[in-house]
Amino acid sequence: MTIYKNAITSLFKIEKPIVQAGMIWTSGWRLASAVSNAGGLGIIGSGSMYPAVLKEHIQKCKAATNNAFAVNIPLLYPDIDKHLQIIIDEKVPIVFSSAGNPKTFTGILKQEGITVVHVVSSSKFALKAQDAGCDAVVAEGFEAGGHNGREETTSFVLIPAVRDAIKIPLIAAGGIATGRQMFAAMALGADAVQVGSRFVASEEASCHPNFKQAVILSAEGDTHLSLKQLTPVRLLKNDFYRKVYEAENNHATKDVLEKLLGKGRAKKGMFEGDMNEGELEIGQVSAMIHVILPAATIVNELWASYNAIWEDYCK
Ligand code: NDP
Repeated sequence: MTIYKNAITSLFKIEKPIVQAGMIWTSGWRLASAVSNAGGLGIIGSGSMYPAVLKEHIQKCKAATNNAFAVNIPLLYPDIDKHLQIIIDEKVPIVFSSAGNPKTFTGILKQEGITVVHVVSSSKFALKAQDAGCDAVVAEGFEAGGHNGREETTSFVLIPAVRDAIKIPLIAAGGIATGRQMFAAMALGADAVQVGSRFVASEEASCHPNFKQAVILSAEGDTHLSLKQLTPVRLLKNDFYRKVYEAENNHATKDVLEKLLGKGRAKKGMFEGDMNEGELEIGQVSAMIHVILPAATIVNELWASYNAIWEDYCK
């Protein structure tokens, strides 16, 4: 077997340039360790975890894999200092930060010997991440699920634009679930891909089975980037989404939208399985996902398919 090596596999000390996205209510230690054991990089999504829960997930992940794994911290998380201290104490090797300014925490983490990657949705923020001392960036396009950029730049435009703007390694995200999509992302200049939605429909994902079913049954056009006045988020269309859509069409103010969103909507939908009133965060590519699989199968099939397409093109 030939060993694949590039800037990202060397940086993370992994076999395959495939990163599983940190997703609230979905990527706990089971999913992260399964992806890392399969040769990719698994990420624990800490945004929905209280500090004690995060600590438990990190410890369980360390026990379940000898390979590298990471923790994703959305920088707008309320108890961020506690999360950072746990990450440092538990010697987590890699942190993916998102939804905030990378300047604030990158230096602190780097001083502890932690590799820092920041998620961006524009070339401007990619440059900021590079200037802040990040080791790599994730460029996440409009197609992605969950929090997203206001500018609506698609992966097809964002990836080559960020590639031209920065010198540090680049991970492409947003709309990637198949070998063909991975091949396109690498051709556009990425050193690796970050995959979210495909891993929602995995056996190890901690989200509710109702949500996994909704994802594999969804079709083209079933998601929409909503709540741009608050924090833009791509949602699967359901009763809650339709209320938001109507309010936005009626020029609802920020206050009205905040009230409509309330607290714990994401937990209600993705974790508790309320498919009508919960917030269901998923990417456009869910329309191409039809089956729930073990995470290792997803990693291996994606890598095999990418390599087969690569060989075909290079013949
Ligand atoms: P809400 O304010 O609606 O709810 C907070 C949720 O987070 C609750 O369900 C709560 O759990 C849980 N939680 C975990 N730790 C804490 C804490 N220290 N203080 C308060 N609540 C906590 O927020 P959201 O559910 O919309 O988002 C939660 C986090 O996830 C945010 O940090 C946000 O930035 C991040 N996020 C990231 C996304 C991404 O794409 N990367 C997408 C969406 C959100 P409980 O109900 O058990 O109290």
